[in-house]
Amino acid sequence: MKINNRWLKSKDTIKVMDALKCRNNQVLFVGGCVRNSLLGLPITDIDISTNARPDEIINLAKKAGLKSIPTGINHGTITIISNNKAFEVTSFRKDIKTDGRHATVAYSDKIEDDAERRDFTINAIYMTTDGIIIDPLNGMKDLKKRHVRFIKDPNKRIIEDYLRILRFFRFTAEYGDPDLGIDAEGLSACAANIDGIALLAKERVGSEIRKILKTQNPSSVLAAMEISGILSNILPGTACKNMPTLIHLENKNTINWITRLIVLGGADPTNSLRLSNKENKEYKSTLKAINMGEKPSAISFKFGEIIAYSYSLAIAALTETSPPNDLSDQIAKGSSVKFPIKPQDLHNLEGKQLGDMLKKLKSIWIKSDFTLTNKDLMKKIDQ
Ligand code: ATP
Ligand code: MG
Repeated sequence: MKINNRWLKSKDTIKVMDALKCRNNQVLFVGGCVRNSLLGLPITDIDISTNARPDEIINLAKKAGLKSIPTGINHGTITIISNNKAFEVTSFRKDIKTDGRHATVAYSDKIEDDAERRDFTINAIYMTTDGIIIDPLNGMKDLKKRHVRFIKDPNKRIIEDYLRILRFFRFTAEYGDPDLGIDAEGLSACAANIDGIALLAKERVGSEIRKILKTQNPSSVLAAMEISGILSNILPGTACKNMPTLIHLENKNTINWITRLIVLGGADPTNSLRLSNKENKEYKSTLKAINMGEKPSAISFKFGEIIAYSYSLAIAALTETSPPNDLSDQIAKGSSVKFPIKPQDLHNLEGKQLGDMLKKLKSIWIKSDFTLTNKDLMKKIDQ
């Protein structure tokens, strides 16, 4: 595994690291940026871990002319902004008291303490600015095998923070080797602590489920969540038996986590996952389209291309059938056609009568697969 990433050598990163390194401080990258770089994957954010304490971090940033924000000062995290990019800097710490949601922290000078309070071995790999790896818990071995595994006793780690149940499934879906399967010890500890999920804020549960459903292929992780009772605990009434079919039908343009949510079925997830207004609208429109059961071209005309694909793939997956061969042509057509009648064409009607007639003609035109012209439709007025 060789690290060669632009982010590591970028001026903005170097500025932050140089600012913190003074007085022989230990300043290391950790978490996703190290893990993903080692896997040759893009990174989402840069987490930095240091033996410097929060007030020193703030002072050092100030001296270097960098803005810092005490985003998580209670657990030792300061966000430093360098050229509009955010760097999360956290002091080495150990968690001394936890209640399943919050931790009371003590700062530490030892990297081993800091590593042991993290969740999975693959997330506790540290790296210097020169790309030298410091691996106190042997995370590299697990990363090479793509083995997502709790640090030390899974049961204890989950009781400290129940969000780790969902993080376990998310990281397994994102980074686990499907042939290796989910870590058995981790899975049974998750199943044993199912009741702890109710203590979590719904936003946090929703955010993890969203991330799971956005991974390339969440089928096997969802199946593990189903068997352990966790899926139905979060989303009552769901079943993932049709998920492999949906995944098989998707391509890179049609992957959509809302479609996957629809195929899981179950009760309305708007509240349990705290969907955004936009997501909720997409979810409800797709369900509405499923109830209408019209051709994909008609759905595309009425709701737009995204819902039309979601609808077509969801129906095919749920009924174990294939979508029409000309699906993309149908959907493109439905979203580009223009209804050939204008209200002024019906100048002798007004108010409700006008509205009803426009609706009737539109329905006839959609049923004709958009083939009827203005002239054809005008002839239908008196019929
Ligand atoms: P991503 O690429 O999604 O940002 P990440 O591993 O960087 O992945 P973050 O949520 O940014 O995830 O957290 C940074 C690091 O902090 C993790 O790699 C892990 O070491 C630690 N961490 C985060 N959340 C927890 C948690 N709930 N319990 C223990 N350690 C955690
Ligand atoms: Mg991160």
